[in-house]
Amino acid sequence: MADRAPKPERKLQLSPTRIATYLACRVMYKYDYIEKIGKFYHKSRPGNSFGATLHQALQQFHEAGGSAAENASDLTSRAMTSWRSAGFTDQQEEAAHKELAIEVLQKYHVLAMERVDLTRVFLSEKMLKYDMGAFILSGRVDRIDEYVADGTLEIIDYKSGRMEVTDDQVRSALAMCIYQLLAKRLYPERRVFATIHALRSGATASAELTAEELNVWEDEIKGIALEIIEKDWSAIRPVYLPDTCPTCDFLSRCDRYWKAARRMD
Ligand code: SF4
Repeated sequence: MADRAPKPERKLQLSPTRIATYLACRVMYKYDYIEKIGKFYHKSRPGNSFGATLHQALQQFHEAGGSAAENASDLTSRAMTSWRSAGFTDQQEEAAHKELAIEVLQKYHVLAMERVDLTRVFLSEKMLKYDMGAFILSGRVDRIDEYVADGTLEIIDYKSGRMEVTDDQVRSALAMCIYQLLAKRLYPERRVFATIHALRSGATASAELTAEELNVWEDEIKGIALEIIEKDWSAIRPVYLPDTCPTCDFLSRCDRYWKAARRMD
């Protein structure tokens, strides 16, 4: 039998989450993306289920035509029918989150009505990808709106846990910079800016990076990608990080490593 040709190595795909994980802790990155053992350690949390339910309801709402086609009660019904229960400790906690979801979505509908004549949905819950040579930069955007007047693209990121947001926070947020970089590379003729929408309060803030700022981000991301590609992952060992370890899902695993290492001393 003829030898099978070796499978071509898949190009590294880097998303904002991957990059943020790498920057937070190399060991966390190794567990999640090299050894792929996260499913044994990551816990469901109420905030994740709450956020996922809202995201799904908003995606379906916009795909159905948004506030021009559906009223607030259609939108809240979508959330209740696709509600995710994972992670809630008891019925009381879940009921409180359902009540909050209804309040948040009613507020969202009012704001969506105000934009009806100004914008139209360009993309919703879409994975953007751009080939950077040695790797692929990717990012899943919650929504991109297009301004009817001039075709400007506004990337909108929903934050289901936040009450407040400032322009400076949008400007420095890794994910928002990556989304802008992706959108600008994919649609170079368009003006692009990014907005975070704090769903609980309805507050929004925006920022637009210049071409020079985007180039700086691109260089930084390329540097990180190169580090990831060239790293000897077998040599990476857990080192205690006081700001990150206490709330990390992998703490029990790293703790076992540290205890074993102490016994060996
Ligand atoms: S417990 Fe600490 S060292 Fe281990 S993966 Fe998490 S953040 Fe990294």
